[in-house]
This record gives sequence, structure tokens and C-alpha cells, in this order.
Amino acid sequence: MLKLKDIAFSYDRKHKTLTDISLTIRQGEIIALAGRNGSGKTTLTRLIMGLINADAGSIKMNGQDVTNCQAADMAKHIGYVFQNPDRQLFASTVREEIIYGPMQLGFTKKEIELQLEVVLEATDLTAFAEWAPQTLPRGIKQRLSIASALAAQPQLLILDEPTTGQDCRERTKLLRLMRKLNLEGLTILIVSHDMDIIAEHAKTMIVLENGKIKFNGAPKELFANEKKTVELGLEVPEAVRISHDLGLDICMTPADIYQKMQGR
Ligand code: ADP
Repeated sequence: MLKLKDIAFSYDRKHKTLTDISLTIRQGEIIALAGRNGSGKTTLTRLIMGLINADAGSIKMNGQDVTNCQAADMAKHIGYVFQNPDRQLFASTVREEIIYGPMQLGFTKKEIELQLEVVLEATDLTAFAEWAPQTLPRGIKQRLSIASALAAQPQLLILDEPTTGQDCRERTKLLRLMRKLNLEGLTILIVSHDMDIIAEHAKTMIVLENGKIKFNGAPKELFANEKKTVELGLEVPEAVRISHDLGLDICMTPADIYQKMQGR
């Protein structure tokens, strides 16, 4: 769906921020982007969204060249959910917040109304339609950020550290929503420091270091190599550790492990 080839980008002449970035995001997958602070994750997502343009290389979306597309063009295809929902939310009601994107993109009144209904339902926010976003608890604000991004019917949804600052219940609800949206066909790029989430949900994982791709493959492959995981500044997920200790397959989810332990 999205193909980056030999991308290079620098904010200034002195430092290369991204070099030799080639990657493919396949339709319908959950792909994770990880790496230490300063490794280039935000820059890469900004590039994908057209907020900045590459100095070299190409970006194709569904076979079409979008290398020099601007953010307004990419907004038709890509939804972005900020780590901190307060940076994203500005309208006076949940309803207005959700319809803003589709209005900007020129959806008809009928389409906007339909999208509003669908998205409120999908994110379990129908009861909050007339609430002021700023008065909502953080977990609900986060769902609203997702709802606003979804309303524009993106092909790719980028979630930036979606579970940061959330309690366990909100986290579970958010991950369940992510999973549901993905099962319905949405392609998701999740930027996260949470290796447990990546191990459990992502099919592919890309790890950046100093602006270069140091790993691109199945998360379980990386986590099986503890030394490399640590070298890249990442933690081996708890579920993987437990699996090792129990002599189980490392690609099992916590739920699988629990079931297996019950059966012993
Ligand atoms: P991450 O999201 O992985 O923390 P960033 O993409 O934010 O990494 O940063 C990658 C590098 O680019 C860092 O060295 C950072 O200091 C630099 N950088 C980020 N934003 C800017 C900017 N607006 N101007 C100049 N340098 C920047």
C-alpha cells in the first residue's frame, strides 16, 4: 500500500536525520515503528504524512508517486493520532470534532452525517456526542482523537504512542479498538515504546537507530535475539520473557500462555 524507497532527509546540512529508508507497509497489517528517542520515528511519520518532503528517494501509495505530496493531499489517505490528545482536540463538542476532517475534505452533508454515526458507534462514543472534548477523561479523549482521524476514512492510521499515560482499563479498551479496526481492514502504523503491545499485535516491526533501519521483520524474530533487542535500546517484552522461562513458543500471546499454564 505504501512503499518508501531509499529515503533520505535532513533538517539541516550538518546532520543526516534519515538515511537509506526503504520499507513497505502492506494493506491490512499492523506495523510497528520503534527505536530510541531521537532515532527518527517522528521524522519518518512526518514524512509519510507529507508534513516534510524527502531530500532523496521516493514514496509510492497504491502504486502512485506521492513523494512530494503535501500534508493536505496525504490527509485524504492517512489519519494521524497524536500521543497527547490535547494537541489534537479543539472543537467545542465531540460531534464537531469528528466532522471537522470530512468537512475540510469536501464530503457531502449526507456523507458527513453517515460517517459521524459510524465513527461514534465504532469508538463507543455515541453517548458523548454533545460533550465538550476538553472535559472528557484522557482515555475517552484518546478514542475521540481516533474517531476524528477515522471520520476522514483513511487507508492508513498512524497511532503515536497511543497507550502512554493511560490506566490498564483504558489501555485494554484502546488496544481492543485498534484490533477491531484492523480486523475490519484498516492498515495501522503504531509508534510505540511498549514492546508488549508490539509483540502481541504487530505483524511487522521496524526499528530505527540514528535514522537508519536496523531491523525490519516479525517482532518475535527480534525478541528471540535478546542481545540485539537490548543493543537497539528496546526491552524484551514481559510475555516473551515468561515464555522463555516456561520453555514455550515465544510468539505466544499472554492469553495463550495463561491457557497453557491452566492446562498444566
Ligand atoms: P524520535 O521521534 O525517534 O524521538 P525524531 O524524529 O524526533 O526522533 O528526531 C530525530 C533527530 O532529528 C534527532 O536528532 C532530533 O534532534 C532531530 N530533530 C527532530 N526535529 C527536528 C527539527 N524540527 N529541527 C532539527 N532537528 C530535529
